Amino acid sequence: MANRIPRVPVREQEPQLRATNFEEVCYGYNHEEALLEASRCLHCKKPRCVEACPVGIRIPEFIAALHEERLNDAAQIIALDSSLPSICGRVCPQETQCESKCIRGIKGEPVGIGRLERFVADWHNANVQEAPAKPTPNGHKVAVIGSGPSGLTCAGDLAKKGYDVTVFEALHLAGGVLVYGIPEFRLPKAIVQKEVDGLKALGVKVETNMVIGRVVSIDELMSEYGFEAVFIGSGAGLPMFMHIPGENLCGVYSANEFLTRINLMKAYKDGSDTPIMPLQGKKVAVVGGGNVAMDAARCSKRLGADVYVVYRRGMEELPARHEEVEHAIEEGIVFKTLNNPVKINGDEKGYVSSMTCVEMELGEPDASGRRRPIEKVGSEHDLPVDCVIMSLGTTPNPLIKNTTPGLEVNRKGGIVVNEAGLTSHQNVYAGGDAVTGAATVILAMGAGKLGAKSIDEALSK
Ligand code: FAD
Ligand code: SF4
Repeated sequence: MANRIPRVPVREQEPQLRATNFEEVCYGYNHEEALLEASRCLHCKKPRCVEACPVGIRIPEFIAALHEERLNDAAQIIALDSSLPSICGRVCPQETQCESKCIRGIKGEPVGIGRLERFVADWHNANVQEAPAKPTPNGHKVAVIGSGPSGLTCAGDLAKKGYDVTVFEALHLAGGVLVYGIPEFRLPKAIVQKEVDGLKALGVKVETNMVIGRVVSIDELMSEYGFEAVFIGSGAGLPMFMHIPGENLCGVYSANEFLTRINLMKAYKDGSDTPIMPLQGKKVAVVGGGNVAMDAARCSKRLGADVYVVYRRGMEELPARHEEVEHAIEEGIVFKTLNNPVKINGDEKGYVSSMTCVEMELGEPDASGRRRPIEKVGSEHDLPVDCVIMSLGTTPNPLIKNTTPGLEVNRKGGIVVNEAGLTSHQNVYAGGDAVTGAATVILAMGAGKLGAKSIDEALSK
């Protein structure tokens, strides 16, 4: 019979304090809390949580090992299916995946699977220092483009099988969105660096400042540099704009640029090479309602701004994770839902001074299943702001497609692949956001695993 222990809450930094710093918001479970939460799992014979995990982590098995305090075993069980548990334990939307199907959620609260995964992964990182055994080289050379979760996972899986793997990364630091997009207060960068260091220890070479398609093309990597297969994990980093008047004014950013300046270039520190405009005491409008919008809003708050999230649908329809919205509200961010910008206005020097919005109401569901926002006639009004951050989604950058003749993409710019992750080019595979458009870390990681498996099957024939 199920015990009646309620879901163990997780400790977090106080909202007023954390809104002024970039330190991690969530402290995670301690040992006792993790054991208590693990005791809530019913070890179902047909675990619905596993079915709902995009990579099929053996959830009841790892929770059972944790409950019996076999922490290293728990970490090894997770590692069978996931390469980045300390990252996924922090940023995966568990509430719509594994935890949404947990049997304990039917009459109460689901088991805190993500928090337990994080606990096990952090314990392993802190306590197990064994250097990975260097695999015997198998003589095959593979290039990976992009060092986000898809590229890192693909590189790691291949390196473990003895492949000579080089990751080519356009930026000066490896990690993809994990380092340039998701803020330090949600995902400390030291955790990502540890993953990258682990790959290097396995023998993976990481070449940064290498924009494939500019410095060298995919065809040249294969014909001149001897790479027998390529995995494209170049993400979806091209921001979308609204194409409304005033988007070229000083003080309008894409969320991608804004977050990159803050997270990768540490624009919040004195002396940063790529500062952003001073936001202390200013008013910022973030346009959009996804995770990226929440990150941009919460970063602006930490830089001292009063922040509005302007979103054309209602609170119910916000696509961001529930937890991120709750955290944003606790930190004092104001949601102006059912509002849509139509114009950004500037002062005589060309800086943003306000944003003109219209009010919206929700009509019938559209093709996406969400209720269509409809403009309320005569509702135009001005919102005084000094900075506007556009967070409307991203698409894959066309550079790789434009420099790889014959590479097939869909109408949204996503690279077309078959069920093995193979593109229209022989021995060129792709996965993650470059294929699906902006999605999630776990899906990108799963695509990296598939790419590695398919490359191995093709090259070891
Ligand atoms: P990316 O992580 O985008 O990595 C691609 C890498 O390729 C980048 O480093 C890029 O510089 C490099 N690159 C691009 N072009 C080239 C080239 N021509 N040559 C060489 N290198 C190149 N997902 C979640 O699951 N949970 C979250 O909480 C979450 N929050 C997010 C917050 C933000 C701000 C953003 C932007 C995304 C968030 N996501 C979240 C989505 C998630 O991060 C992505 O789905 C995931 O990172 C995609 O991984 P990827 O490997 O496909 O690409
Ligand atoms: Fe445990 Fe919930 Fe999964 Fe059942 S569904 S095995 S209770 S985590």
